[in-house]
Amino acid sequence: MKTALITGGAGFLGSHLCDRLIKEGMRVIAMDNLITGDLKNIEHLMPLEQFEFYHHDVSKYIHIPGQLDYVLHFASPASPIDYLKIPIPTLKVGSLGTHNCLGLSLAKGARMLIASTSEVYGDPMVHPQNEDYWGNVNPIGPRGVYDEAKRFQEAMTMAYHTFHGVETRIVRIFNTYGPRMRLNDGRALPAFIGQALRGEDITVFGDGSQTRSFCYVDDLVEGIYRLLLSDYVNPVNIGNPDEISILDFAKEIIELTGTDQKIVFKPLPKDDPKQRQPDITRAKEILGWEPQVSRKDGLRKTYEYFKSLPEEDLYKYAHPRTFK
Ligand code: UDP
Repeated sequence: MKTALITGGAGFLGSHLCDRLIKEGMRVIAMDNLITGDLKNIEHLMPLEQFEFYHHDVSKYIHIPGQLDYVLHFASPASPIDYLKIPIPTLKVGSLGTHNCLGLSLAKGARMLIASTSEVYGDPMVHPQNEDYWGNVNPIGPRGVYDEAKRFQEAMTMAYHTFHGVETRIVRIFNTYGPRMRLNDGRALPAFIGQALRGEDITVFGDGSQTRSFCYVDDLVEGIYRLLLSDYVNPVNIGNPDEISILDFAKEIIELTGTDQKIVFKPLPKDDPKQRQPDITRAKEILGWEPQVSRKDGLRKTYEYFKSLPEEDLYKYAHPRTFK
């Protein structure tokens, strides 16, 4: 039986990966400091013999006894309002946390997959973004703490591959959504659905002409699993190329939820990327992967999830629980 360590295992993507690797017959260790993760996301796995949870901050030295075959580094605040609130832990988990995971992978002979991001492309000058584009990132802007940590993470990962021969995989994740997103994490989709459920106006930033391309979580997990098992070392974009303006997206959420609230326009946050769409040619060619879930179906499933949450979750404080 193969053993995988998933950092950020109690988070949105991490917990879905735990589910998938358990389903694939692996033993899974989820590690999380629970700053933005939530044990609720993995409580159904806790009774399983092949599942373990380590409450630990991956930016500090990691000790795992025994054999380890895969390390998937998914720990990080991932929402702009999170990394504005906790900029230094965001920088540390992408840099020191990655270094610790790479050192662990080297020591164990494990294969390491890192969660990189479309944010390495910054506010892109190339559209759609392919993996050969180097990006347009403001290192000292509000998003710099996340973007630069992730860029450093890629550089460190390639260095461990070329210098130490560690088997590494790099996935560049584009906007992803689905059950277990935090309702109040500040991102567009949970923000709009939360507002609709609370009977508040829908806040579109700027004039809403900026675009994003939203991928349903099951599609993303499938792409990551295929990449993990592949022998491909360079970065691979995983995302859904179905691009939409944020204004049209807000209108879709209004239709989905049936809310009679109106759209209100708020200032556009600094360095907010104007457009984003993955070029997934590489993923198609190398992994035989492309998304299967339409936005209509994905949004419906996600809305059902948010509606099923206890009402008090709608009013929970938006920011991470502890600041270190
Ligand atoms: N956005 C918005 N209203 C909100 C939250 C976000 O208009 O209440 C916009 C945000 O400015 C950005 C887009 O939606 O242009 C996606 O934002 P999100 O935080 O979801 O992800 P990211 O900017 O990291 O892609």
